[in-house]
Amino acid sequence: MTPTNIAQNVGSPIRRIAVSSALTFSPPMESVTTVTDSSIPKFSYSQLQTWDRCHFSWYLNYHEQWTPVETKSYFVEGNVGHDLLMIYYKNIVMTDHDSCVRLVKQKVAQFHAAAGQDPDKLKIVATMARVVKGYLEDFARHEDQKWEFLDAEKEFEIPLKTPKGREFLLEGRIDIVAKERATNRVWAWDHKFIGKKPWWSEAQLLMDSQMPTYVAALQSMGVPIFGALVNQCNKYQYAKTQDMVEENLYKRSPIYHTNDELAARLNNFGMMVDELLECNEQGIFRRSLKRDCSDCFWQDPCLMSLKVPDAPVSDFLQVNFTKKAPKRALI
Ligand code: SF4
Repeated sequence: MTPTNIAQNVGSPIRRIAVSSALTFSPPMESVTTVTDSSIPKFSYSQLQTWDRCHFSWYLNYHEQWTPVETKSYFVEGNVGHDLLMIYYKNIVMTDHDSCVRLVKQKVAQFHAAAGQDPDKLKIVATMARVVKGYLEDFARHEDQKWEFLDAEKEFEIPLKTPKGREFLLEGRIDIVAKERATNRVWAWDHKFIGKKPWWSEAQLLMDSQMPTYVAALQSMGVPIFGALVNQCNKYQYAKTQDMVEENLYKRSPIYHTNDELAARLNNFGMMVDELLECNEQGIFRRSLKRDCSDCFWQDPCLMSLKVPDAPVSDFLQVNFTKKAPKRALI
């Protein structure tokens, strides 16, 4: 099967229905959802990224459904910042900047209340409140005049086929879909909070696979998408106020992909799904052991189960890990 076939193939058991979007597109547009056969496996972009990085990590996380008891702080920082921007952009299509900022402040107050007396959590809330306030007041207030926001937190679920003919669903959520007023071009945005400059390099933008996945998904839903934009926000608090300037703190990096490239990238996802399903059938999950493993939160149980191969890995997960509960909002 060619890459183009994969991008275009919508399997027969999968019925597509069109429903009105919760937010108004201009020109009017419909978002598409799917009614699916529940036996068709569903994968998120992040799940396939985990598989790509390390099969054993995927096994612990998605097959066995373990999760760390304490989530690392950088992860929560990203969640808090993302939630604050989500409140703003979900409402900006219906009301004005100042009203949206008030809603963001209410959300910050909720985060503060949820953080209680925990100094680490309070620090995270304070950091992200500072970063998002600066972004909204000093950057988005004027830069966003160039954009018409069409949708925020746009969910997708697209039916695809692997090179070996297996049907699967690729699901995800796109931070923003927005139309550039000057060109009428529609872009998919993703917010990224970074620790300190440098911004994403040209090579990182070209090699990234998240944004083209989102563009391909929107294209398959009939959205006339043009490109993707990485909306970067620098969290670092510079010691000198003269360094706390727009060019150091905020950057929007555009990236374009041809239709052939988008199809090739979806084909690559299909190959990963074939590999994942075959390993799953055989119960074989290879570790990607390398020096970077020192940053992996599965490091301890992974290492212990290597040292004591006869013991079930669950023996080493009981203390610092727990089985996942159904997903819920952070607060
Ligand atoms: S420590 Fe390395 S090999 Fe083990 S799960 Fe993590 S990434 Fe995979």
